[in-house]
This record gives sequence, C-alpha cells and structure tokens, in this order.
Amino acid sequence: MRIGGRDVTTDTPIPIHLPYDGSDVGTVFEATKDVVDEAVEAAAAAAPRMRALTLDERSTILRRAWEKLNADREEMAMAVSSECGKPIREARTEVDRSAQTLLFSAEQAHRIHGEVVPMDASPGGKGRWGMTIREPLGVIAAITPFNFPLNLSMHKIGPAIAAGNAVVHKPASSTPISAIRLARLLEASGLPPGALNVVTGPGGAIGDQLVFHPGVAMITFTGSPEVGMRIRNLAGLKKVTLELGNNSAVIIEDDADLEKAVPRSVTGSFAHSGQVCISVQRIFVNRKIREEFLDRFLTLTSKLRIGHPFDAQTEVSSLITEAEARRVAGWVEEAVGQGAHLVAGGQRRRATLEPTVLTDVSPDSRISCLEAFGPVVAVNSYDSLGEAIELVNRSEYGLQAGIYTRDLEKAFAAARQVQVGGFHINEVPQYRLDQMPYGGVKRSGIGREGPKYAVEEMTEPKLITWNV
Ligand code: NAP
Repeated sequence: MRIGGRDVTTDTPIPIHLPYDGSDVGTVFEATKDVVDEAVEAAAAAAPRMRALTLDERSTILRRAWEKLNADREEMAMAVSSECGKPIREARTEVDRSAQTLLFSAEQAHRIHGEVVPMDASPGGKGRWGMTIREPLGVIAAITPFNFPLNLSMHKIGPAIAAGNAVVHKPASSTPISAIRLARLLEASGLPPGALNVVTGPGGAIGDQLVFHPGVAMITFTGSPEVGMRIRNLAGLKKVTLELGNNSAVIIEDDADLEKAVPRSVTGSFAHSGQVCISVQRIFVNRKIREEFLDRFLTLTSKLRIGHPFDAQTEVSSLITEAEARRVAGWVEEAVGQGAHLVAGGQRRRATLEPTVLTDVSPDSRISCLEAFGPVVAVNSYDSLGEAIELVNRSEYGLQAGIYTRDLEKAFAAARQVQVGGFHINEVPQYRLDQMPYGGVKRSGIGREGPKYAVEEMTEPKLITWNV
C-alpha cells in the first residue's frame, strides 16, 4: 500500500494472479482497520496543502505525471494486462486513454472558477456584489473496479487533484498493481506525500470503514449497482457519485451502413470479453435486414483471435475469474432453455468463454434483463422504431445506448426517447472519450465523470457577498 508517501505492508499478503492461467503476477497486503485510519489521517493532513496549491501548481503536477505515464507506457500496460487479464493491445489503449484523462484533468485545473451573482436583481441587493468560488471538499475516498483498473482510477484521482483534494484510493482486490504504480508516479511528479494514498483489501471488509469515516467528505465509486446502493445508503450526508452497470443496447435500422455498424457491434460486444460497463449486450435489428446483419456479424465474430493476453495478436482473452466465466455460461444455458438459439460460441475453457451470440432471446432471460459482464450478446429483431425504443427502455439500467441509421429524424427521435445518460448516433454504446460527460440514469448511477464534470462534483461553490 502507499500511505503518506511510504510503502506499508501488513501480516496478510494477497497474491495477485493472471486471470488467464492463474500464474502469479505480484503480491499486495490486506489493510487492517488501523491502516485504513492511517490512510485517511495521512490524506486529512495533506488536504490543507492540496487546497493551498495554486491552480497552476496542480496543473503542473498532473502534466508532469502525464509525461511520466507516456514514458512508462509499456510497463504500465503490462501491469494492467497482468492483473485484469485484458489483451495487451487493449491494455496499451487503456494506458493511452489514462494519459488523456490526466491531460484533461491538468487542463481543467486551469479552468476552475465560480460566477458573479447578480445581487441587485433582488430588491434587497442594491449596492451589493456577489460571487461564488469553488472550494475543494477535503478527503475523497475513491473505490474502483477491476475492468479498467488504471483509467477508471484516473477518472477519480486526476479531477480530485485538479480540484485540490486529497484521496484515499481503494482499487479492486484483483487489480491493485497499476494503482500503486500510479501513486508512485504522481508522487514522483511532485504530488505532496499523503495527497494520494492507496489501501488494498476486500471491499466487504474495509469499504464500510472508508464510507463511514468522519474524515472522508465524499465517496466516488465505480462498480456494481449492489455495492453502489449500499454505499449510498450508508453515506448519510456525504457526497456520493456512483458509476454503475448497464446492459447496453444498440438499434440497427434497415437503412444502417452495415459496413460500419457490424464491425463496431462486434468490437463493442466482445472487447475485454464483454467486461465493460457499456459493452453491447442487446442488439435490436430491424427484421428486414436481420439475416444480412447476422451473417456479417457471425462471420466477423468467428475471426476473433482468442488467446493469451500477452500475445499482441489476441483480441479476446479470459474473464476476471473462472467463476465469472462459469456464471456467464450458465446464463447462456438458461437463455437457451427459455427458447433462445445459440448461433456462435458458448464453449468455456477455464476462465475463457468464447464470444457467444444468441438470437430470439426471451425478454425475461437474465441475458436480457441483467448485466452479463461477459462475452455474450443477444440479437433480437423488431418491426418498427417505436417498438425498438420500447425494447431498449425495457431495462433497469440507463448508461449509454446507440442507433445506426442514415435518417436524421429517426436518429433524433431515438436520442430523445431512449432513457440513458449518453446516446450515440451511428456508433455503438461501447464508446467513450475521456472528456465526455459520462454517467447514467436509473440503476446506472448518479453524477457524472469526465474531468470537467468530476471537478464540479468534487468541489463546493462558496458564496461571498460584499456590501459596497
Ligand atoms: P464491484 O464488485 O462492485 O467492486 C467495485 C469496487 O467496490 C471494488 O474495489 C470492490 O472491492 C469494492 N467493494 C466491494 N464491496 C464493497 C463494499 N461493501 N463497500 C465498499 N466497496 C466495496 O464491481 P467489479 O466487479 O469490480 O466491477 C464490475 C462492475 O462495475 C460492473 O457492474 C460494471 O458495469 C461496473 N462498472 C461501471 C462503470 C461505469 O463507469 N459506469 C465502469 C466500469 C465498471 P473488492 O474488489 O475488494 O471486492
């Protein structure tokens, strides 16, 4: 762990394994309650220093870290690939995106400002001036998932530093290595000791302590809806942002450009074995083009190269654990039992599940209703756009969705009617640029990320008035 700029260990090691074959890739340590307290205290001690840094000083630290991360690209990509098992080519992309997130955070630090309040718009405001400034919150607890261990951590840590806060970061138990590397990299870039602390250990054991801790002002969480709702219920008056799950849908209209829609739908369904919060899980294709779409989709899916994550050619590798692969395979079996057709994949070897395509899936199957978080996609057809929109909205989630069509009227009708935080026209829902406002409605969460929006969440406006 990293606390106050020092390495901290305990008597309980946690071995970290490569999910693909179970080989050892490192060891971290399980935090005790005292260690968690120590981390919050270190952050609280650093918070006044962070608050006192000028906007330019914060920006300079983040920009230096951006340079260092670019120089450390290959090592960091190996750390990410080793701990979460994603193909090395995707891990490199994640590092590049994390560098973008750092750079956007550095730029955002320069733009933190309040506004002038028109005091004399009220009868009692004559001769008064009013303004707001944005102040940091103090200590932020950042709790992150395994699937993008570096970039989703960066989406919390970059904006928190830009906003002048100190952080206690709890990465997912399976993926702590890149988090510790990132803390060292930021310290080497001039971040004051204690401004970023990393504690490792099971969320079920140390999560509540972080959420309840009186020294923590805000919890920023990315992960499953179950844990997110627990945090929200326990957090009382603390600020909370929650980036949760989805079962993303894309609509393929009969005028869609299939040359573009099909390859993006395949990548969107199977990148990182579907372990992406916006992974394409439900495809609704206009019945008139169902056969053509499916033929092309299955042809491209069959060409995906499955293998070891460190092989530069590998496009699909394992899930995070064998138990997860077994769970997803069980959902596929259940859907078939309820009448779905298995038209590709379905075979599992240890933690690796083949890219799997189901058609005619019952709306009551778990694959339709819940978040699969695996390499499986349900392709169903519809007759009218209204029906497709209704099917997309028949979900408890609402993170992102998309449509392929050449008809602007249809595209904007769908954009207005689909209940999500982000809607993409001629793009799959599995699309995110790091400056975008990103977050969901319904069970997909509350609050937005993207450095500009996260800085707003991580600061409070303070009003100052002046009786001239
Ligand atoms: P998870 O099981 O909810 O874990 C997320 C984090 O919460 C981990 O660090 C975990 O620690 C911790 N945690 C577990 N129990 C906790 C508790 N009681 N209190 C506080 N923290 C606790 O999620 P995951 O399996 O890592 O990630 C997959 C989920 O994340 C999916 O639902 C996916 O959709 C979602 N996700 C959402 C976004 C988004 O931006 N909307 C992005 C990526 C992923 P341990 O690892 O120690 O259990």
